[in-house]
Amino acid sequence: MPEMYFYYFNQGYPLPALHFRTPGVTQLMIRFVILLASVLLVTGCATSPTGRSQLIMVGDEQMSASGQQLFLQMKQKGKVVRDPATSATVSCVVNALLPQLPPPWQGGWEVQVFGDKEPNAFALPGRKIGVNTGMVKLVRNDAQLAAVIGHEIGHVIARHANERASMSVASQLGAGMAEVMAPGTGDLVNIGSQVGVLLPYSRAHESEADVIGQNLMANAGFDPRESIRLWQLMEKQGGGKPPELLSTHPATQSRIEGLNAHLKVTMPMFQRAQAAGRRPHCGS
Ligand SMILES: [Zn+2]
Repeated sequence: MPEMYFYYFNQGYPLPALHFRTPGVTQLMIRFVILLASVLLVTGCATSPTGRSQLIMVGDEQMSASGQQLFLQMKQKGKVVRDPATSATVSCVVNALLPQLPPPWQGGWEVQVFGDKEPNAFALPGRKIGVNTGMVKLVRNDAQLAAVIGHEIGHVIARHANERASMSVASQLGAGMAEVMAPGTGDLVNIGSQVGVLLPYSRAHESEADVIGQNLMANAGFDPRESIRLWQLMEKQGGGKPPELLSTHPATQSRIEGLNAHLKVTMPMFQRAQAAGRRPHCGS
């Protein structure tokens, strides 16, 4: 008489009963595949703003919570600056960009300037934007600041951190099949979401954020050609020690080529924005 196993890994998705004569590796593998498939059933494939297929296994609320927690920790480290002129410049650029985001993303962003000479900027799930004073000093104009902030916002609205977290969860599931016996997916997802926020971006994510960022800045009335000058400036900066931003966002030749190629799309956007009176002056 075969033993019967019933697995209901996710409420609402009852899975068929499986029959095995003896438990073994095959059975474990089947359990793993069922777990993965059931996770994919509830979450699974999504599409990024540029039409790329994505594996999304972690809830957006979870990602937002991780991003907000990290942002809070960064603010608590004491690098927060109260420099009204710099804050006004950064807010002006962000406020010009936000109305150009797709509707669910336009509101609720928090912007913080950090007193750090390192030319860096970032955005986190949970709608958080951080810009170092070093970045504001480095850029030559508003459009270059819009380029880097737009790029970082691009990572968030394309849910790149979630994708990285999902890959991390999937690989942990794959590596630790024993875990499947008593699935601690809550912990896995929690760890995954934190990893997703912290890991460097892949090349696919970089080029996607470049496209989204350049669209954003052009639609807001910032000259998209400045995105190329920004990365060239970043690369020249620092002499022997390249800026921290480049460790997660390398300014490769392929990035410059991609940004150049995309100008054929964004220059007309920029001209339309200017004609419509969107000509932001933020004092960079
Ligand atoms: Zn990036």
